[in-house]
Amino acid sequence: MALRVRQQRGVVVEYKGSGVVLDPTGNGHGYPVFVSHAHADHAAAFKYPDRQKYATEETHQLLHGLGWKHLDNWQQIKLGDRIKFDDIEVHVHNAGHVLGSVQFEVNTPEGTVLYTGDIGLEESYTMHPAESVECDVLVVETTFGAPMFNFPKRREIALDMVRWATMEAIPAGRIPVFKTDSIGNAQEVIRIFNTLTKLPVVTAKSATKVSDVYRGFGHDLEYYDYKSPEGEELLAGGKCAVISPKGSKLPYENLDSALASGWAVLFGGRQRAFALSDHADFKGLLGFIRRCKPKRVLTFHGGTMTREFPEYVRKKLGVDARPLSAKEETLNGTVQRGETRIKACTSQLLRTIRIPGFEYGTPWLEREMAKQGYSGGETEETLDYLVSRGILERTEKGVKMS
Ligand SMILES: [Zn+2]
Ligand SMILES: [Zn+2]
Repeated sequence: MALRVRQQRGVVVEYKGSGVVLDPTGNGHGYPVFVSHAHADHAAAFKYPDRQKYATEETHQLLHGLGWKHLDNWQQIKLGDRIKFDDIEVHVHNAGHVLGSVQFEVNTPEGTVLYTGDIGLEESYTMHPAESVECDVLVVETTFGAPMFNFPKRREIALDMVRWATMEAIPAGRIPVFKTDSIGNAQEVIRIFNTLTKLPVVTAKSATKVSDVYRGFGHDLEYYDYKSPEGEELLAGGKCAVISPKGSKLPYENLDSALASGWAVLFGGRQRAFALSDHADFKGLLGFIRRCKPKRVLTFHGGTMTREFPEYVRKKLGVDARPLSAKEETLNGTVQRGETRIKACTSQLLRTIRIPGFEYGTPWLEREMAKQGYSGGETEETLDYLVSRGILERTEKGVKMS
């Protein structure tokens, strides 16, 4: 059982001495880094300019468009690419979520791990659905992994949005504003209005910047920034639909706001909201898992509402499932470590970290510990333990003796 998967500042897949980190949320891993898409919680690796990162050109340009700095040390990947490191090969697949979003299939001699990143499973107005990939271990997002998340057909949602804007808001002398995520949903709303109506679309702030990047990659989108002369004129005339990032305020009085997001199903009419989502819904996720034919399912994303999801997978699909955590997972189950093993690892680690105040990088420590037969997960777990006891403290790239 040399293949290991765990979540520790990102999704870590290891095989013998080598590994990869997918969507890391912190520095300190020695392995090659892969970024699935441009949403901030997945793209944090780009905050570490010294690290080499693999990502699509679309992801890179979206981050650039959003004003992220120091985006160097970037290696371009494309759909279908296979990148090899020792015994590990990473195969890139479409994720159907936002522009440039991908899933990573990690092949090792022992088996295959598919990491979905975020996935969209519908043919939408801007995206093709995520590819299902047969694998042994499926690491799947479950943002909307509860039965209440049962989204209507895309076209129905689109028609609802258009109906509200053109037959309710505008006739009442109000300008319809769609509050939504700047990457993905914003472009979907633009495309819906471009396709189904003649109503011009006005975009605000990051929604404009991101849409410009989409346009650069051949997406046929028509919109005017709210600060352009055309945008200002349209807003003054009141006959347009506005798309604005969630949480931003526009300096106009006669606006009627609606939320466009998968979370809409939770509002139940208390607020104007449309269930437009770039994530899979509950049934979509179960279907996707079935098509991937995994032996084990490890879930990430989601909170209290999706806590039951692994149980649904076990009951409905008969596949072993549990949330991904810092614990090491293999093809057969979770690695259980005895107390003696952890004790041995602790004393080895304390023999390795000898000079008080000196910063030891985590990648170096993991390599040294691997020479003594300890896995990355064991080393990390022991480091966490020693940090929690106040014996070590975390530094930017590793640890030092307190
Ligand atoms: Zn995302
Ligand atoms: Zn996500």
